[in-house]
Amino acid sequence: MAEPHGINADLHCHSVVSDGTLAPVDLVERAHRNGVEILALTDHDEVAGLAEAQARAEALGLSFVPGVEVSVTWAGETIHVVGLRIDYTDAALVAGLQRTRSGRDGRAQEIADQLAAAGVPDAYEGALRYAGNPELISRSHFARYIVETGTCVDVGEVFTRFLVEGRPGYVPHRWARLADAVGWIRASGGVAVMAHPGRYHRLGELAFDRLIAEFRDAGGSAIEVVSGSHTPDQYRTFAEVARRFGLAASRGSDFHGPGESRHDLGSLPPLAPGLDPVWRDWPETRSR
Ligand code: AMP
Ligand code: MN
Ligand code: MN
Ligand code: MN
Repeated sequence: MAEPHGINADLHCHSVVSDGTLAPVDLVERAHRNGVEILALTDHDEVAGLAEAQARAEALGLSFVPGVEVSVTWAGETIHVVGLRIDYTDAALVAGLQRTRSGRDGRAQEIADQLAAAGVPDAYEGALRYAGNPELISRSHFARYIVETGTCVDVGEVFTRFLVEGRPGYVPHRWARLADAVGWIRASGGVAVMAHPGRYHRLGELAFDRLIAEFRDAGGSAIEVVSGSHTPDQYRTFAEVARRFGLAASRGSDFHGPGESRHDLGSLPPLAPGLDPVWRDWPETRSR
């Protein structure tokens, strides 16, 4: 068996089933070309792309891990929890994700109303054109539409000027509860991973530690250390958090598509020695 730190695992990415720009099969093929050895597809609040991705991965001899990224509201903040090795046919998981998605359409209408008042008309229809899945209109789809109108040069600028707290197009939303999200993942046989913790700096240190403790107490067992949304400094910060809380470590690009994501599939550095890779004991590592 290969040493687990040496395996190119990419355990976080998105397809058109949520807010990525590649079809699930194209994402799998790209990962394979890039040398990824274990791939998880983790669309937001939705598992509809997993069967086709899994079939393509099997044909290519690429180890595939069914995943999902659940949107959670904790202490008024949006937190993302990744589920890995889930059973995506599990009834409670499917129902929980369905409920989590259900508020998105109304939220999208409200986002569009605010954008219209700010001088960007027709954004609901515009965003919907970019959404591969009408049940999953996300801020990313609005961002792509706003770039199309010429109002901003790229999605990064959109997220500075619009769609974030204090800006037009920000609509507060209540997602799943932390313990519920972790519970659905675990009950389906999966592992719960705290996604891109570097994004939760708004919480402050005390609340951040409380979040991680609550996540662990609810049954969460890993945290993303090497993530596409982390800086190299943050790889060190969250390696320390993993050790301090006794959590396994994960690695994921959070790839959304060529041209939009800073890090391509499978391109991030390995986990530092001393960390416990979340994939260490998975059967997927045995064939390596
Ligand atoms: P939503 O789930 O609709 O709130 O959309 C969240 C998605 O927007 C995230 O999963 C990212 O893909 C994207 N996003 C959030 N913030 C940014 C940002 N600053 N730059 C680029 N994309 C972002
Ligand atoms: Mn996204
Ligand atoms: Mn996320
Ligand atoms: Mn993501």
